Amino acid sequence: MTTTTKYIFVTGGVTSSLGKGIIAASLAKLLQAQGYRVTIQKLDPYINVDPGTLNPYEHGECYVTEDGAETDLDLGHYERFLNVPTSQANNVTTGRIYQSVIDKERRGEFLGKTVQVVPHITDEIKERVQILGNSGDYDIVITEIGGTVGDIESLPYIEAVRQLRWDLGDNNGIVIHLTLVPYLSAAGELKTKPTQHSVKTLMESGVQADILVCRTEHDLPSDLRRKLALFCNVREEAVIQSIDASTIYDVPNLMLEEGLDKVVLQKLNLKSSKPDIARWNQFLKRHKNPISEINIGLVGKYVELQDSYKSILEAFIHAGAENEVKVNIESIHSEYLNSDNVKLKLSHLDGILVAPGFGERGIEGKIDAVKYVRENNVPFFGICLGMQMAVIEFARNVLGIQDADSTEMNPETKNPVIDLMEDQKSITDKGGTMRLGAWDCDLKMGSIVRDIYKAESIKERHRHRYEFNGTYKSQMEAAGMVASGLNPDTGLVEIIELPTHPWFVGVQYHPEYKSTVANPHPLFVAFVKAAFNYKKKHRGVSMAQNK
Ligand code: GLN
Repeated sequence: MTTTTKYIFVTGGVTSSLGKGIIAASLAKLLQAQGYRVTIQKLDPYINVDPGTLNPYEHGECYVTEDGAETDLDLGHYERFLNVPTSQANNVTTGRIYQSVIDKERRGEFLGKTVQVVPHITDEIKERVQILGNSGDYDIVITEIGGTVGDIESLPYIEAVRQLRWDLGDNNGIVIHLTLVPYLSAAGELKTKPTQHSVKTLMESGVQADILVCRTEHDLPSDLRRKLALFCNVREEAVIQSIDASTIYDVPNLMLEEGLDKVVLQKLNLKSSKPDIARWNQFLKRHKNPISEINIGLVGKYVELQDSYKSILEAFIHAGAENEVKVNIESIHSEYLNSDNVKLKLSHLDGILVAPGFGERGIEGKIDAVKYVRENNVPFFGICLGMQMAVIEFARNVLGIQDADSTEMNPETKNPVIDLMEDQKSITDKGGTMRLGAWDCDLKMGSIVRDIYKAESIKERHRHRYEFNGTYKSQMEAAGMVASGLNPDTGLVEIIELPTHPWFVGVQYHPEYKSTVANPHPLFVAFVKAAFNYKKKHRGVSMAQNK
């Protein structure tokens, strides 16, 4: 087989949560900074067709791409690091693989053959891996295999990697294996045995790791690197340490110091040069040396798990660096918020973001939070469900429509200010049936958002079923809530704002998905700035502690 695209497979051993996604994104960043066109793909071994139907407590947030794919949150890291959009092809699950093979079987495409894991499932995996490479858009495709080597469900993926390496030939496909080197404090020692076993497990499937990336809390001394190299059958310079970092944005520099990009390029027979990461480092410098700090309340119902709002938290890091302020996020559980305690829980904050979400739980607390910030001129940012709550609050407390509600929470309401779109009403399937992906939005002349975006028209990513009910638009506008962003084709309201409030913006879409290190999202940048202004006005400015 001749190939122009090179493939890097990233596998993980010993345990989950070692940060494969961040290592893949950091390596991709270093390769991109040497002029290579790189993309990253995630293969997930679970049977859900996509993570769209998963509760955020299971796998963290569901990330949405421009083309409307509901994907693993690691794709968010890829986009934030690389500033290149991903697509449906960048995330494949076992469910999707099987669905596709079974569909082919039903169409009779296997010509009477017995359909089996090997070769049919493995062939489908191989095909999916090569879709991005065959597009001609990339020099290097990094494929991250989810899960841990040795898991039953990972086996077909590892077999596909083995075959692909054989098909692609020498220097065209390499395997990076991420493992853990634990520190036993009682013995005062770093232990290599789990790594040795993990490499051995991989070899039982016929795959020899080319490079080891060892997650560790302490520096790996050279004798230990030599030992790992000898017992795991890799070259010494291919033993890379991945030491715990204070921020994920440090990892590209740590990998550069370890020479991961160099060994990778050498093994792929590609030229290496000094990566140009000056812009990245400018961001890091601002991120680590803020001139002040602000406190933002994140009102949501999945606050126990940080990963549920991953892209929002990262967007605040980008926007904070842009404003040179440290953004401290205080998670506020909307279920425990009510009109009696809202002042106590929110009055020390410089801005409030009401988060996206689904279902009834905790929504009255969100409405109380919106009322508080609207009446007290605290900067407010509502995202998706957060925007819908702002509309309900305004209808109830300003227009006096007591029973204003969303039909998601109260299907019987006489005043559905938030309602299902007509074409959603007949849909019963839950997976992949929302309004998804990038939609156009025209910004109203003279609006806050037009000034922030500095554009007449934008494109933002959606993931929801319910909408602002247009029949209430003129009533709302007459009372001061402006629909400042509209979809040009459907007239759907995408943005609401209160021009008389210092900063009150609600968006039906998810701006957080598009924020990257290179392009912090303008709405987050403006919200952080407004919160900083609020703090200066009401509390004076304290200098942040430089780290
Ligand atoms: N549950 C709401 C809807 O489906 C909002 C979704 C969201 O916040 N992503 O419209």
